[in-house]
Amino acid sequence: MSRRGMHDVVVAGGGVVGAACALALADAGLDVLLVEGREPPRWSAARPDLRVYAFAPDNAALLDALGVWPGVRERRAQPYRHMRVWDAAGGGELAFSADALGREQLGWIVENDLLAERLWTALPAAGVQLRCPARVQALEQDERGVRLRLDDGSRVEAAIAVAADGAESTLRTLAGLPVLRHDYGQRGLVAFVQTERPHQDTAWQRFLATGPLALLPFAEGRSSIVWTLPEDEAARMLALDDEAFAGELTAAFGARLGAIRPVSARAAFPLRRQLVADYLSGRVLALGDAAHVVHPLAGQGVNLGLRDVAALRALVRDAAGRRVEWSAPQRLRRWARTRRSENTVAAYGFEAINRVFSNDEMHLTLLRGPLLGVAGRLPPLLSAFWKRASGL
Ligand SMILES: Cc1cc2nc3c(=O)[nH]c(=O)nc-3n(C[C@H](O)[C@H](O)[C@H](O)COP(=O)(O)OP(=O)(O)OC[C@H]3O[C@@H](n4cnc5c(N)ncnc54)[C@H](O)[C@@H]3O)c2cc1C
Repeated sequence: MSRRGMHDVVVAGGGVVGAACALALADAGLDVLLVEGREPPRWSAARPDLRVYAFAPDNAALLDALGVWPGVRERRAQPYRHMRVWDAAGGGELAFSADALGREQLGWIVENDLLAERLWTALPAAGVQLRCPARVQALEQDERGVRLRLDDGSRVEAAIAVAADGAESTLRTLAGLPVLRHDYGQRGLVAFVQTERPHQDTAWQRFLATGPLALLPFAEGRSSIVWTLPEDEAARMLALDDEAFAGELTAAFGARLGAIRPVSARAAFPLRRQLVADYLSGRVLALGDAAHVVHPLAGQGVNLGLRDVAALRALVRDAAGRRVEWSAPQRLRRWARTRRSENTVAAYGFEAINRVFSNDEMHLTLLRGPLLGVAGRLPPLLSAFWKRASGL
């Protein structure tokens, strides 16, 4: 700890993004305290986490640099080598392949709990101090630093606080950072399934009038689905028995991999766009879901948050190399501006794709064919956006 009990950084929230942030900043030489409201995450191979991500190569490189990625890969990370996106209403197909890009894979499908557990395992050795379980309850700040009160009655002081405490972030609210929120009126239904034909290491996405249905390769013979549905349809799908649900799912996927049957429980989460107006308030930074919640269309929820972390890590390392103060207001402001602009483009991009494709209005249906490209020709704009969003 630096002067008189004062940490360099206190991170509120130890989900994947907060834990990666704490680890990255400690690795860059800072004194970091992490405050997490729940017990440390546990992962079980036998009970896979329904929350899976299409994990992008740049974020795998970040976790590799932090020494965490090999442990994730050893346990369970399914590479996907192809991506296919098509429209139930007909038209072309968007297809990417790792081979064409000179890569071994486009990314990996990884469970949230596995990432969180591996990150937490690395925290003590990196020197990150932990307060867990404890929740942030109150904030005071001035130009010298922040003082947080936790719900166990203790207080912590730091030069900078990071709000990584998720979509309902308490610290963001305490710092007076307003959010712009839009409910899509849709839910993301998630489950593990088995398909009659193999998944072919491919991330599949079919656009239906009600919303996209993604089928992500998870393990040998097993895939994970993320199905965007209007709220009442999601409630209906959750209530169906396995056999009826299997029938609906197989039809919705256009039987492209034969019959599909569920092999797990189902869960659904509300979908919304939620963007914080500013990523910085005095000495408090917001990142991850505390700063941006986006449509899960391209599986980017956690990827955007880890890019916030990578940018902050680069800032700290660059400042150390030049022997200047990393937390100077103008440097934090630059970080905040860049992250806000990148994440806003991504959020509205996913939303525009969802709106054009998840719709049966005539003029939008006519737009889709050319957008997806004809006879395998990739439409440059959509292709470039998708690749950029996926970190390719
Ligand atoms: C059910 C579900 C399924 C999802 N599925 C997908 C998907 O398929 N694909 C996708 O891309 N995205 C998905 N998402 C979104 C994705 O999970 C998030 O984008 C990602 O978890 C963001 O990580 P985070 O660390 O910023 O926030 P979180 O994972 O929400 O972590 C926040 C952490 O802060 C802690 N915390 C909260 N308040 C306090 C406090 N006051 N003090 C201290 N700690 C606090 C919480 O306990 C938690 O550990 C899903 C989300 C949910 C809820």
